[in-house]
Amino acid sequence: MGKKSAELFSKAQKYIPGGVNSPVRAFKAVGGNPLFIERAKGAYLYDVDGNEYIDMINSWGPMILGHAFGPVEKEVKKTLKNSFSFGAPTALEVDMAKIITEMVPSVEKVRMVNSGTEATMSAIRVARGYTGRDKIIKFEGCYHGHGDSFLISAGSGAITMGEPDSPGVTKGTAKDTLLAPYNDLDAVKKLVEANKGEIAAIILEPVVGNMGCVLPQFGYLEGLRKICDDEKIVLIFDEVMTGFRLAAGGAQERFGVTPDMTTLGKIIGGGMPVGAYGGKAEIMEFVSPAGPVYQAGTLSGNPMAMAAGYAMLKHIQENPGIYQKLDEIGDELVGEIEKAVKKLDLPYTINHIGSMYSLFFTDKKVTDLETAKTTNTELFGKYFQAMLKKGVYLAPSQYESLFLSVALKPKQMKHILKAHKESLKEIH
Ligand SMILES: *Cc1c(COP(=O)(O)O)cnc(C)c1O
Repeated sequence: MGKKSAELFSKAQKYIPGGVNSPVRAFKAVGGNPLFIERAKGAYLYDVDGNEYIDMINSWGPMILGHAFGPVEKEVKKTLKNSFSFGAPTALEVDMAKIITEMVPSVEKVRMVNSGTEATMSAIRVARGYTGRDKIIKFEGCYHGHGDSFLISAGSGAITMGEPDSPGVTKGTAKDTLLAPYNDLDAVKKLVEANKGEIAAIILEPVVGNMGCVLPQFGYLEGLRKICDDEKIVLIFDEVMTGFRLAAGGAQERFGVTPDMTTLGKIIGGGMPVGAYGGKAEIMEFVSPAGPVYQAGTLSGNPMAMAAGYAMLKHIQENPGIYQKLDEIGDELVGEIEKAVKKLDLPYTINHIGSMYSLFFTDKKVTDLETAKTTNTELFGKYFQAMLKKGVYLAPSQYESLFLSVALKPKQMKHILKAHKESLKEIH
């Protein structure tokens, strides 16, 4: 690691808990100290020591068109001249809401917020207000931001309430969150049966990015849809990661399963702090001031954020070929990465869909948290460091998906592959 990053990290630790504003950035899972980034353009990140890296996380998703994408930059600059926030309605917010409803199948009405965390917290409040029920079901390994109701892990025993996963989350909150393993419909059926008429919502990542990339098995999303229909439970797809990534209409478009509500973030802000939640008009009409469920935000719908987000979505809407391109980039790169793994006779598992993938250092199929945890995280740490040395910046944790962008051209793909092959050899 460069000298300036090292100096900044030790200074940062004096003033910021752990030196970072979001834990995974601290590189704790991979060893070493984090890089401090100065700027980025297209496929590349540049740190404060002047090193160049191919970016494989793209701000955890938003930079699907590459960094500092021209049309987004232009729109932000234009909007900047009119001052940065009014706390009053703007035309841009209307454009933004309209384009989201056009693109995301389940969304008839939408409310803008400032992060994915706010979106999921608000969505379950609305689902509870709408159904008059308290409990929710979430899945082990799915991440929905840091709201109390989601920082819950499974208790012991198959049918049990959750337990706080962080100090500061109360047992009172935990008792309303039920946990099931991902990709296990029977577990959900049992929970629903044992809590009949009490479950407001089932929330999940329709493709998981937050235990590494994990795909829904055939019939899983459809099965959840049916359970929710039968039991009048609100089905919430948390598409903060997959929205505008797996298709213009997110995973729900790609898999053809429409939830009742959807949460969005990341890409929707083009790199600005933005989130949104939306769904059926009948449900969203419960949100204040149309209805009784309170939810607000001083900076929600902020002009700068809307300018970036709208420019992003508009570009995606007008260039639907982007998704074919992303799939091609993903298929080619991940195909070659897999070949290299096989060629070295390594038994590892690769999960992949479109522009998301994870290489797990395990010989097990990874379909849920339990199987994801069979990965050798120490080996992943070595792989991460080896790749970094060769100028490829991966997500600093095995339990994160990688995100590709359309800025990856043959030159960068060759670079990534070469680094991958050399790194695999080095660490074995
Ligand atoms: C990142 C993420 C969140 C949280 O979004 P923040 O903007 O970090 O609060 C929620 N859900 C999913 C699926 C995410 O990937």
